[in-house]
Amino acid sequence: MPESVARTLARERKPGPEDSVGADRLVNAWSEAESLDGARVDAFVLILRTRGCYWADLKGCTMCGYAKDTLGRSVTPHELERQLAMALGRYRGQPYVKIYTSGSFLDDREVDPASRSKILAAFGGPAKRLLFESLPEFVTPEKIAPLREAFPGELEVALGLESTQPDVLGRLITKGASPAEYLAAAGRLRALGVHPKGYLLLKPPYLTEAEAVEDVLRSIELAHPAFDALSVNPVHIQNGTVVEWQFRRGRYRPPWLWSVVEVLRTGAGRAGGTRLVSFPTAGGLPRGPHNCGKCDRAVLDAIEAASLDQEFEPLDRLDCTCRTLYRTQRSIEALGVEA
Ligand code: SF4
Ligand SMILES: [Zn+2]
Repeated sequence: MPESVARTLARERKPGPEDSVGADRLVNAWSEAESLDGARVDAFVLILRTRGCYWADLKGCTMCGYAKDTLGRSVTPHELERQLAMALGRYRGQPYVKIYTSGSFLDDREVDPASRSKILAAFGGPAKRLLFESLPEFVTPEKIAPLREAFPGELEVALGLESTQPDVLGRLITKGASPAEYLAAAGRLRALGVHPKGYLLLKPPYLTEAEAVEDVLRSIELAHPAFDALSVNPVHIQNGTVVEWQFRRGRYRPPWLWSVVEVLRTGAGRAGGTRLVSFPTAGGLPRGPHNCGKCDRAVLDAIEAASLDQEFEPLDRLDCTCRTLYRTQRSIEALGVEA
């Protein structure tokens, strides 16, 4: 795919400065199943509307379309206060809170430092653990220290490492930082008393299904010492992305759920005690990771149960006639034949 197409897509994704509608409204908030200290709990998830990821404006990652949930300018502290009030109106005291911004919570252009502390402090008390996401370059003692003071519970920061293979990360996913920078940021988080969590992307564009599985398994092996948890995120097709461009031309199929099963089952033995989880977005849908349609619900439920309980043996009991098709397609793809 020509470089110019990627740049055009990035330009089209980016909202204009006039697109500030809803600046005082959250993108969304909901409750979902999670695990905390070995027990199942409810987690409160909220997505704040900010200017979003600066990298998405410059070039963006090939699978990421989160820019659609952002503003064409920085959000003001007052608008953030309104969004926080809206979030607190929906908060039911869940012990685990996850705050997303469609970018980096630690980037001052997205969330100013004073608002960051206020937002975290607002959940102090009922929330025992609070997670947010950041690019590695924003993980510094200066940014983390005030947040440790503002929030009395455990902090967890998720880093979108995606792959430990520099070529996969740089050329196929087109992230701006190298795997080494992600691993170094995870080390800084640990040193600052924060739990580092790593995202690993299953099936970036241009990899076959088998190569994608191998890529994640290798990433688990190389990354697990640096992280307290690794989350396998199978690609789902988002609007205005390179992956969608490929999908529309019949050059990309979202990963099979069987690949997620294999990555968890095999990866659990290679994760060295680091939590390994997967909560596929858009699972079972044509634009998300899916199997044949008949077994998708059962396989997704088993993936969620394995992730919450860290029990991976039950995955061995899954089966469906489409597993044979999956295996055949994988071997045909490996020969370079269109499946
Ligand atoms: S995946 Fe992360 S770094 Fe890449 S464009 Fe999206 S938000 Fe930015
Ligand atoms: Zn099936």
